[in-house]
Amino acid sequence: MKIVINGIHANLRFSAAHMIPEHDSCGCIHGHSYHVDVHLEGKRSGKFGFVVDFKELKSQVKEICSQLDHKFLIPLENDSILFKSLEDSVEFNIGDKEYKLPIQDCILLPIPSTSAEDLSIYFVDILWDKLKEKGADISVIQICINEGIGQGACYTLSHD
Ligand SMILES: [Zn+2]
Repeated sequence: MKIVINGIHANLRFSAAHMIPEHDSCGCIHGHSYHVDVHLEGKRSGKFGFVVDFKELKSQVKEICSQLDHKFLIPLENDSILFKSLEDSVEFNIGDKEYKLPIQDCILLPIPSTSAEDLSIYFVDILWDKLKEKGADISVIQICINEGIGQGACYTLSHD
């Protein structure tokens, strides 16, 4: 069975700043009010016959959202970003542009880019592990990271 959570209506949202290094327009710092849609397939189980308890699933997604909320998203695995410091401040160069940001304003992410595409993979990987830890019998997770209404990227992970 499949369950679906709409991020706008279920309030799975975060606002964050980012940039896409070397991209013409997205290479400048800008922000989005993101919302996160979740599609999940698995076997019904337990006393209530749930695939996953909606409340539990929403709180897990919200936890990831809250870590990113009101932060500058920094992709640690981006080849165009030359990091100089990741301690009290995050200092780096991209080409001839220099950046220095307070560490508490940033979240450092182990991903190559903060595109909607890579953020959707980031969410799926964390959520998959969390759900497996809880013993959910899930076969497919899809996360759509929307950068606004009508524009998003979806990543699907499936296991037998
Ligand atoms: Zn953007």
